Parts: sequence; structure tokens; C-alpha cells
Amino acid sequence: MPEPLLFSKGSPGRMGVSLPDPDVPVKPLKEYIPPNFLRQHRPRLPELSEMQVMRHFINLSVQNHHVEKNMYPLGSCTMKYNPKVNEDVAAKPGFAHVHPMQPDDTVQGYLQLLYETSEYLCEISGFDAASLQPAAGAHGELAGLMIIRDYHESRNDQRQIILIPDSAHGTNPASVTIAGYKARAVKSNELGLIDVGDLERKLDHTVAALMLTNPNTLGLFEREITTIAERVHHHGALMYMDGANMNALLGLVKPRAMGFDVMHFNLHKTFSTPHGGGGPGSGPVGVTNACKTFLPSPYITKEGERYTRQSLSPSKLATFMGNIGVVVKAYTYIRMLGAKGLRRVAENAILNANYLKSQLSETYDLPYPGMPLHEFVLSGDRQKRQGVKTLDIAKRLLDYGVHAPTVYFPLIVSEALMIEPTETESKESLDNFIHIMKTIAKECTENPDMVKKAPTTTPVSRLDEAAAARDQDIKHDFCG
Ligand SMILES: *Cc1c(COP(=O)(O)O)cnc(C)c1O
Repeated sequence: MPEPLLFSKGSPGRMGVSLPDPDVPVKPLKEYIPPNFLRQHRPRLPELSEMQVMRHFINLSVQNHHVEKNMYPLGSCTMKYNPKVNEDVAAKPGFAHVHPMQPDDTVQGYLQLLYETSEYLCEISGFDAASLQPAAGAHGELAGLMIIRDYHESRNDQRQIILIPDSAHGTNPASVTIAGYKARAVKSNELGLIDVGDLERKLDHTVAALMLTNPNTLGLFEREITTIAERVHHHGALMYMDGANMNALLGLVKPRAMGFDVMHFNLHKTFSTPHGGGGPGSGPVGVTNACKTFLPSPYITKEGERYTRQSLSPSKLATFMGNIGVVVKAYTYIRMLGAKGLRRVAENAILNANYLKSQLSETYDLPYPGMPLHEFVLSGDRQKRQGVKTLDIAKRLLDYGVHAPTVYFPLIVSEALMIEPTETESKESLDNFIHIMKTIAKECTENPDMVKKAPTTTPVSRLDEAAAARDQDIKHDFCG
């Protein structure tokens, strides 16, 4: 049964709070507010007990899938477990109740935390400076591309093109376009890596940057990355790294050492802050000294023991310091794990992905057989020949209580199933996933219609996703 709306559950006069009687005389509202501003009727809000409200939201939360419930192998999204200690720290009044316009002197601890987070991100990536302003990965991409434009313009160099491999995440060309550049695709070779010959042919003085994810969206490391960076720099262009896949590199490889000049992080992926309906994101951008002056403001500096907010450039991308509640959680995660712990995150993420790949690559096609890092991409082509699409397999997984992988991405793999287990899954839960994937493959042969009707155990089955996006009914006529 779908959970009814709260509006159908209340009863007049029921209360979820108890307030003490006021200890000052209470005058009618109209003595404070002119009557023409006062509403004529009471709002029709549901009146509920605390228990009803709690059960309502608990019931809703178990209808949806989340990582607290079971595995969430959504490739490229790094849906790792978010340790609850992050929430405890972010909820501390000294962080949660700070006003963004408080003078620097009254928020030294906060500024220190933000400063140290940028320092940690620089240490992890090898960059010289970082801004915490961008509010998501895509926002970080936009910031990075605008920094690249400022860099070229400051040298009186007009460039129009950003090169992007054909395996890129969709936000890459979108950010390029919003930043006023033209995106041009570079081909992947048969190994799923950048075709360096094709890159060479497309490099000239009109190219502002190459935008790359490494490991790429197939989970494969660009082995020729230093040659690629050298060729790009030779033409006066910069190297942008989409850092969404940093989970594979923590403590192992520094993007700066691979030749990148600008990069964004996804704190909500790599650094364990909730995302995907679970909360806001944060997409800090790191740069080399050559680009530092173009970082958005405010930028925190440390002189002696004093932290101050300063302006490097006149640009701003978010209100105040960005989504700093998210930064507190990421900071907590980094401090809890330390350098050794972060390295083990990457090692175990890689181990888990390779274990799954080795166990599943006979049951499903593996179009790019290289050794992946933290994620890998299967193809449902074989199952499609039996009449079952990858979408059906994804839906059938929900019946078995796990979230579906990313499907139909990257675009260079037909019927793609992009699987990222993350380091936080145990061997038992990986084995469970392998068992489920093999069971579904068997069902595709023996009972394809059952797979095509899936899911049958979820509160809702197949939704019209296009209509849900275009024809939304989010404001019901309840409030009068
Ligand atoms: C998630 C992701 C992005 C975009 O990040 P958001 O925080 O979702 O805006 C960009 N590139 C890749 C490879 C990603 O996985």
C-alpha cells in the first residue's frame, strides 16, 4: 500500500509538540500586524501527533532504496556508506548555528576547518590552491572552465574549443556550453582509452583545454596520460580533470602529477557526504599557482594563527562560502581516516570492483577487458538477444533488494551496465550481488517475461519517467 499523505491522517486539535503557557501577556495578532495582511481562514495544515509524523517518514524512507538498506552499485556516483559521525560533527552548534555574515574574529574555528579542508584537498591532489565554493560536481566544472577562460584571456589568448573524450559524463559538454565554449569529441580507441592520434589531429591554438576523467567512465586508467598532458600543453592548452572518480586514486595518484592544471572534487562522492536526494553537494575546484588568482571569492588565508576571508578575484559562484555543512562532513571523513585510511579506501574500492568484474564477466559481456580501477562496465547485449533489455535487468535487481547500476552510460557501450561497488561493501554483500546478477541472467534465458515485468515487489512498478519530469504535480490543493 502506498503511504497516505499526512493531510489524510490528522485530526483537529491533535498536537505533536507541547509548549509552555506564555509568561507574558498575549495580545491579539491584529495588534501587531495590520489586519489586511492577516489571512482570513486558518491554513488547512494536518494536525498530527509526534508518533504519526515519525511513522509517516519512516514508512516513506523504507519504500525508497538507500545505502543503509542495501548495496547501491550506481557507477560513477560513488554511493558509499556515509558514516554517521559526519552528521554528528556537522550538527554541532558551533558549526550548524554560525551566521555567514559573522565577523571573521567570531568564527575562527570555522574558517580554520575550511582552510584545512582546502589544504587536505591540495595534499590529496597535488594542487596549489582550492576553492570550496562550487555546490556540485557540475558547478565545479563550470568554475574550472571559467578559470581556464580567465587564464587564457589574461594572456590575451582567445580560444574557443574544449576537447572531451566520447566516453565523457554528460555534465562535461553541458558545462562547456554554459561556460561559452564549444565541445569537440575525441575518439576512444579499442581499449576504451583516448585515441592519442585523434587527439593530436584535433589539437591547435583554438583549443583551450582537454577535459578528462581519469580513471575514465569505463573505470580504466589513461595509461598515456603524461604524453597526453605533454601534447596538450605543447599547444598552449590546459588539462582539466573531472575528479568524480577520485575514489580510485586517493593516496595512490595525484592528479597534478599526471599533468592536470585544474580539477573539481565531488565531496559528496569521494568524501562520504550524502547525495542523490540525501542532501546538497559540494564540488571544490583545485588549481595550480598559474590559475590561483582566478579562483572565486571569498578565499581563506592564514597569517600566523589568524584566518581571514579574502577576495582573489571579483567572481563568486555561490552565496557566502558555498555548502559548508557538506564541507564539515567531508573534513570529518578525512580526519577520521587519515592518509593511510584514505589510501585503503582506494585500494579496497579497486579490489571490490575487480572481484565483481572477475565473477560476472562470463555471465555478461565485457566490451573493454582492461583492468578497471573502482568501477567497470558490462554490456547486456547477450541478454538483449534473448529479448531482455538492460533496463529490464536494472528493474529486476530492485526485486532482489539492491539498487540498479548506472545503465546506458557511457554512451560508447551498448546496453551498458556500469557497476561501482565502493570500498564500503563486504565480501558477503558482493557475493550476494554476484548471485543475484547470475540469477537474473538465468531468468533472462528461462523466463524472460518475468524480468520484463519487473519490478513487482516495489511500492510502484514502471514509471513513465518522461512524464514524471515534464508533467509534475508537486503542489496539491491542500493548504487553502
Ligand atoms: C557525478 C559526476 C559528475 C557531476 O557531478 P555532480 O555533483 O552530480 O554535479 C561529473 N562527472 C562524472 C564522471 C560524474 O560521475
